[in-house]
Amino acid sequence: MPFDQAQLLEQIAQIQHRIDQAAQRSQRDPASVRLIAVTKTHPMLRVNAVLAAGIHDVGENRVQEAEEKIALQTPEAVAQTRWHLIGHLQRNKARRAAKLFSLIHSIDSLKLAEILNRIVDEEANVIPQPLPILLQVNVSGERSKDGFELTGGVRNPAWLDFVADVRAIAQLPLIDLQGFMTIAPYSDDVEGVVRPCFRALRDVRDALEQQLDRPLPELSMGMSGDFEVAIEEGSTFVRVGTALFGAR
Ligand SMILES: *Cc1c(COP(=O)(O)O)cnc(C)c1O
Repeated sequence: MPFDQAQLLEQIAQIQHRIDQAAQRSQRDPASVRLIAVTKTHPMLRVNAVLAAGIHDVGENRVQEAEEKIALQTPEAVAQTRWHLIGHLQRNKARRAAKLFSLIHSIDSLKLAEILNRIVDEEANVIPQPLPILLQVNVSGERSKDGFELTGGVRNPAWLDFVADVRAIAQLPLIDLQGFMTIAPYSDDVEGVVRPCFRALRDVRDALEQQLDRPLPELSMGMSGDFEVAIEEGSTFVRVGTALFGAR
């Protein structure tokens, strides 16, 4: 797809409109839903175009690719951009990720959270404390999905083990657990498959707010094909690539 700033502005306006409509359908404040432009595989030209259009939340799924793009930014642009890590994080890249990203959506084990907590301690002069994170949860049972395995959400037999892990993560002093992220299966069956997945994550969040007696406000859910359903089910971050830029 040839790049065209006017067309990008039009796409952003359309998506923002759909976000607003979905929020209103579920009696939510549209401002409680933030659009993350997913720029993975797209060149820096597009990141700059998104920023120029007033979108300051940018998502990448690989540490290396984000690192290369951030290196191309001016210090002023870096200060204005919130980079989100939405892809799987390997332990050996945790240090680099903690330095680069405003929010890591893909924490998938207590061990990884503990490693990050130690890194934040060691890098106190370069990493803000506490470090904001989300826990990625696989509630759909799709084997290809990363995250804590919790098919069916609160009804999973391993629920209490999951609660124990989340409690331990919430107690790490230099980590700020803000909520949860999930990826729904690709399916045409919105009511039978997609919506139940988002609802299951929201139920997981609601139950943990009770158990831990603290707010866990963020739900990162919804992509190009399903962000409106996700908003209806409580999403606060939608991660949109294809609907903004066309197919990768
Ligand atoms: C690529 C990606 C997205 C964006 O997907 P689109 O369908 O292009 O909007 C969202 N979330 C994650 C985790 C991704 O890897």
